[in-house]
Amino acid sequence: MKKIIGIFCLLITTVTFAQTNNADSIFTHKYTIILDAGHGGDDTGVKTDEFQEKDIVLNIANVIKNNNPSSKVNFVMLRNGDEQIINTQRANKINELKPDLVLSLHVNYNIKETVEGTETHVSPMNAFYDKAKELAEKISSNISSLGFKNLGVIDTNSKVLRDSKTPTVMIEIGYLTNDKDRTYLINQKNYINIANQIYKALGLN
Ligand SMILES: [Zn+2]
Repeated sequence: MKKIIGIFCLLITTVTFAQTNNADSIFTHKYTIILDAGHGGDDTGVKTDEFQEKDIVLNIANVIKNNNPSSKVNFVMLRNGDEQIINTQRANKINELKPDLVLSLHVNYNIKETVEGTETHVSPMNAFYDKAKELAEKISSNISSLGFKNLGVIDTNSKVLRDSKTPTVMIEIGYLTNDKDRTYLINQKNYINIANQIYKALGLN
């Protein structure tokens, strides 16, 4: 009988422990997404007379972080201010933080002012290429619903995309060199719409 009670107690303890563990994994694991606002400091990115890519993408990243609709996700900024980070440091910082996902934010440039649209980039050399590509397709399509031409997903082996040990998507939201895209991108009231389309692609709203 003692033996049976002993086994019963052991069983109770095991079940309780398993439940506690389970609850912990559901309620304490937050999905971490790094928002990598491109460029910074002396590296302005695309520049027009009045506007610089580094400022636009930092503002958009802040709107994404500040309006996060999900308590399950933690957005972390790779740069918070106007500091320059070389791409090797970006990749190293990402790998130190071990996020679940990285979104690099950029706006595009073309010598031809007629070139317009939104596109996403992923690296075939990244181990999480398939996952990143699936999300990249959703993001391009969702952002294009705001009035951008959908240029789709492009394979690129840039350092950050290639060296991140996590799914990584670079978003070129639109062309700062195109009148239509620029009008949208310089109006800060539109940033919440961009954020909402990204949340939607991530399944957060
Ligand atoms: Zn850029």
